[in-house]
Amino acid sequence: MHRSAAADAAQGKLYPMPEPFLLSDHPAAADLAADTTALLQRLIRNAAVNDGTVGSGDELTSVRTLQAFFGELLDLPEVDVEIIEPKPGRASIIARLHGSNPTARSLALLGHLDVVPADAAGWRHDPFAAEIADGHVWGRGAIDMLTLTSSFATVFRIALAHPELRPAGDLLFAALADEEAGGAWGAEWITKHRPELLTVDDALTEQGGVLLDRDSAHPGITLGVGEKGGAGRRLRITGIPGHGSVPWGSRNAAGIAAEIVLHLLREPAPPQILPHWVSLVHGLQLEADLEARLLDVDTLDAALPELGELAPLGHALTRMTVSPNIVRAGDKHNVIPGSATVDLDIRVLPGQTAADVEAFLTKALAPWADSVVVEGVGFQPGSTSPADSELTKRIAETFQRVYPGAVPAQVIGPGGSDGRFLRPNGTHVYGFGLFSRALGLAEFRRRLHGNNERVDLESIALTAGALADVVLRVD
Ligand SMILES: [Zn+2]
Repeated sequence: MHRSAAADAAQGKLYPMPEPFLLSDHPAAADLAADTTALLQRLIRNAAVNDGTVGSGDELTSVRTLQAFFGELLDLPEVDVEIIEPKPGRASIIARLHGSNPTARSLALLGHLDVVPADAAGWRHDPFAAEIADGHVWGRGAIDMLTLTSSFATVFRIALAHPELRPAGDLLFAALADEEAGGAWGAEWITKHRPELLTVDDALTEQGGVLLDRDSAHPGITLGVGEKGGAGRRLRITGIPGHGSVPWGSRNAAGIAAEIVLHLLREPAPPQILPHWVSLVHGLQLEADLEARLLDVDTLDAALPELGELAPLGHALTRMTVSPNIVRAGDKHNVIPGSATVDLDIRVLPGQTAADVEAFLTKALAPWADSVVVEGVGFQPGSTSPADSELTKRIAETFQRVYPGAVPAQVIGPGGSDGRFLRPNGTHVYGFGLFSRALGLAEFRRRLHGNNERVDLESIALTAGALADVVLRVD
């Protein structure tokens, strides 16, 4: 039996809305942080674990939680609600609150309900109990992305219940299935089969609001403006089979695969410096010499290790990455393998094309050209949204009310989010959130899909409060 949300809430210390928010004194927002925390705990306990199989996930349980959370407010005549369930249990809920002005920009709050698996053996608290301990809610999804999905729900509920706080344009609440396995039963399915449901001018989704220098009086704060794209490729390697008792001089396909794997890891693609990288480096507020070297393609790679824990992220955000993730060869103990395959996870920067992928592989694989063919042509381009829009200005103002002098750092994600399905239709999608000084970017990234995922109570209050200020009309 789970403890009651009220009992959990009583343990928290930071539930009142922090002062700098416009809505701090509004009675509608009095319980915003407590309600968001309680909903976050319920969603964690639903354990919507997506292991990549169609039978996993069971997001329908969380859709039912949200329906109960909104209650009769979903029956309002100005609200359209759809529950999409393309496979049993793989449910998404989309609610559109029609605005008073059809020409005003519409905004979607784009969350996902599923989480990746968690092995309790590596955790200090049960990953699906949503305990509050040490000032944190612990559990799978606390960072990715149930805190934000819960904030979307609490702010949307305020808009439903308080017409005077509604924005002029349509406001959408979307809590989708299957983001963690690529969206085939969530965002991809909906944008393909029911595109009208997610037709919207602007959207807020995951991965923003992290302070880049927690000690700075004027910290850079991440605001997601895009994400890398991807291309999967399979290398099919041909050797010569033979008897395993006489390996000398053999053309062992596993050996060729090993050479290729090591080469790809040791000789990454050359760097490019795009605006999002400049913005991130500025936000880190490094000393001038290091900053200059990180912003010069000739000195970047040598300088990257000086970023410490953030070096792998810096590497990924400045080039096409190629990660050999599945290697297969051989099926009998005494037979030299005549064939092998290596599956590559390739991630491209915004602006890079499928031809860039082919060109890189052709050059990298040239020493083994007689033994390897590249299979697969799939390509998903990277995507970005305008850095300078009405919405980004409003978000920056909100950041600065909480952290005076803060500078939004407009960054892209090294992986993908559901935003990639909306940007091609012209929707501006931004990665949102607002975290406390307790959480830095390296730790934030460690908690994504990692052990001991947790969020501090202040960050829940900050994220929900910032969202309310950005979304609701506060006169
Ligand atoms: Zn996520």
